[in-house]
Amino acid sequence: MEKLIQLAAKDILVSKYVIALTGAGISTESAIPDFRGPKGLWTTDKKAEARAYERYELFLTNPGAYWEEMMGTGGAYGEFYGKIREAEPNPGHHALAELEGLGILKCVVTQNIDGLHVKAGNRKVWEYHGSVSRLRCVSCGARFDLDEVSLDELPPRCRCGAPLKYDVVHFKEPIPSDVMEESEKEALRCDLMLVCGTSAVVYPFASLPRVAKFRRGIARYGSLSGESTANVKIIEVNAEPTSLTCEGISDYFIQGKTGEILPAIVEEVKRIRSDCPGDS
Ligand code: NAD
Repeated sequence: MEKLIQLAAKDILVSKYVIALTGAGISTESAIPDFRGPKGLWTTDKKAEARAYERYELFLTNPGAYWEEMMGTGGAYGEFYGKIREAEPNPGHHALAELEGLGILKCVVTQNIDGLHVKAGNRKVWEYHGSVSRLRCVSCGARFDLDEVSLDELPPRCRCGAPLKYDVVHFKEPIPSDVMEESEKEALRCDLMLVCGTSAVVYPFASLPRVAKFRRGIARYGSLSGESTANVKIIEVNAEPTSLTCEGISDYFIQGKTGEILPAIVEEVKRIRSDCPGDS
């Protein structure tokens, strides 16, 4: 593991455009459970997973019932979102913020809806699946901070009159086009991608490492396989191997906790820089 951390630090220092992709695993050390890890919410409760698949349709057909479920009166989501809003960044988030502060990390594209990268100090963060701290109108696209909107009457409504939903992307719901396009541009531009704490099974997010590797957009995802000629490194940091590891999309896999491995990589980056200041 130590050798891989040293290798990652060297690769980062010779790269020109480093980005990070993150998933629920980076926030488990902030006491937010993931979905599919060994103790994940859905690993332990299959009914919760089934309900999640129906949530977007519930909003479209009965926004009042959607809000009752999200507020916790008809389900556990209010509690989960409350826990998320109270959470604090952990050493994994802080390491990525420090890497941006060093001028090395250009952006974070996260699946997480917890806002912890922003709280940790990262300035360029694409929240691919939105944030529990905002509401969004699916009709006109307007976004509102949660504290701007009264939840006394459900469902809350946008200025345009349509019901508002959480600004999170539920299953079967399209990714907002602004975030989707910018994230794909970042994947096409990077020459090193750190993929941290994701099972890489939720699409289209999980196609971003492949987009980087094969230098082709998501629309052509069907042809993203075979040998890559792009000069891009994909480094995966996760508790367990994923399809990215097994299909050889990752150049290498560092197994363990993001809260331990990412700070160790950043320390190594700083050590190499201070030993050889002219090299980076
Ligand atoms: P996932 O639950 O499918 O997978 C998490 C992965 O991280 C697993 O492979 C797990 O083994 C690994 N992991 C757990 N703790 C880790 C740690 N400390 N260090 C390294 N790896 C660790 O998560 P996903 O791939 O992000 O997909 C789940 C979806 O659920 C996403 O769309 C996300 O929006 C949502 N989600 C978000 C949060 C959050 O915002 N914190 C929490 C749960 C789910």
